[in-house]
Amino acid sequence: MKLLRELSEAAGVPGREENIRQIIQRELKGCVDEMSVDAMGNLIAHKKGTAQKRQRIMFAAHMDEIGFYVSFIDDRGFLRLQEVGGFDTRNLFARRVIVHTAKGPLRGVLNATGKPFHTSSPDERRQYKEVSEFFVDLGLPGKEVAKRVQIGDMVTLDAPFVEYGHYASGKCLDNRVQVYIGIRVLQALKRCPNDVFGVFTVQEEVGLRGAFTSTYGVEPDIGVCLDTTIASDVPGIAPEHRITTLGAGVGIKVLDGSVISHRELVETFVTLAKRSKIKHQLEILPRGGTDAGAMQRSRKGVKTVTLSVPTRYIHSVTETVHKDDVKATEALLLRFLQA
Ligand SMILES: [Zn+2]
Repeated sequence: MKLLRELSEAAGVPGREENIRQIIQRELKGCVDEMSVDAMGNLIAHKKGTAQKRQRIMFAAHMDEIGFYVSFIDDRGFLRLQEVGGFDTRNLFARRVIVHTAKGPLRGVLNATGKPFHTSSPDERRQYKEVSEFFVDLGLPGKEVAKRVQIGDMVTLDAPFVEYGHYASGKCLDNRVQVYIGIRVLQALKRCPNDVFGVFTVQEEVGLRGAFTSTYGVEPDIGVCLDTTIASDVPGIAPEHRITTLGAGVGIKVLDGSVISHRELVETFVTLAKRSKIKHQLEILPRGGTDAGAMQRSRKGVKTVTLSVPTRYIHSVTETVHKDDVKATEALLLRFLQA
């Protein structure tokens, strides 16, 4: 899990995925036949197939994490933020952040505007806040902040990766856990009959943008999207609203808000999982989407399916996965690519 820790703690908001890309390039050096980066920043790792008649299989895992850009610096040095990706602001109170400046990182704290608990009324405490009502305090005078911070600097949440019980937890396991799996699968894949393109995409969290261009460029016959999905298997949620359950295995997606998986591919993966005794669960996510939505609609259409890692507390800094589900996802993808 050392690599997963590194990926979780690294910074890469949509449009600024370079740190993540570098880690992947380092890990895949010598493991694949070619690596390239397209104009948008998608990393494409190609492993050549050995069969006479080959299909082009692309799997895609997005590298970006939900985060912010600095949008305003006031005279006293407080920063305002533009979010990139969907935040539940209830998860944003009293957070530590890192502002990534051209001259290096600065630590800060993120808080909401308004009165503290002791001096606020019950009504004021109940108010929902927008991201625009939060600010960053860097602990530096305004003049110094103005010298060091620029509009457009990346800001990420600062939280450690933690292992507890059978779980691993940290920021942006959506989708670094699947980046980790994609790397591990390409490292383990010694021989494959078909051409395999491991694609690490950019800007998924702002609308699947990197998946559109990379799928167009790769022109695959089959697309396998790798992402996290909701596991609402926690107190206070009715069983029919769980979506997936932690520890019950890799999620094979039937549909979500962006895509209906190709029926044959769903059946292929279920059969393969059963035959290989890999724990799996079928998933229906009524709302929300992944890169699969873009992959499926590329060119004349691509047969697409999604493998999901069930994740609790999604889009918070405590995104939590079961280590067995991570292993199951890795095992199933590897089997599929070797078949
Ligand atoms: Zn995701």
